[in-house]
Amino acid sequence: MGAKIKVILGDITKVHADAIVNAANTSLLGGGGVDGAIHRHGGVQILEDCRKIIARQGGCRVGEAVYTTAGNLPAKYVIHTVGPFWKNGEMQESYFLTKCYQNSLKLADELACKTIAFPSISTGIYKFPKDLAAQIAIKAISDYMASNSTIEEVILVAFEEEDKDILNNALTS
Ligand code: ADP
Repeated sequence: MGAKIKVILGDITKVHADAIVNAANTSLLGGGGVDGAIHRHGGVQILEDCRKIIARQGGCRVGEAVYTTAGNLPAKYVIHTVGPFWKNGEMQESYFLTKCYQNSLKLADELACKTIAFPSISTGIYKFPKDLAAQIAIKAISDYMASNSTIEEVILVAFEEEDKDILNNALTS
């Protein structure tokens, strides 16, 4: 039996999960959207941890994931992954989005997280089509969970009502 996948509507910075995932950019130096919200509510410790990662490895590549403290947020960790920017599907965007989910889940397992919450990576500023992104997210998570994972629950956080419907449709199709 794989882990439970659940869709909720809300703000990921308020979610009580062992790890929440941030749709970061390669610089790890903060941006808008969910990244802006996480740094704003989580406080300066998250940025301090990001700076240590930058000093060590220069940032985070597209499809990869790193983690920091969650600072003032209710989660234990923030897993920062960098989604692909949508360029008409010509730049292996689906492959890289799948990698974001796989690498975030792998890191969560390494951190012994039982619960993890994801935003809809790449579907904001990075313009990934929402239906396709939802299908990729569900498939990547289901496939990963069918392997050797101790994660018990994956929460997909929809920020808008429309996104909730899209995720629920992908989950039940
Ligand atoms: P990207 O650059 O990867 O597209 P964005 O942050 O622009 O990242 O958007 C990713 C998704 O996160 C979008 O669906 C956006 O609506 C959503 N989002 C923005 N703020 C929050 C938040 N506080 N909690 C959950 N999801 C959010």
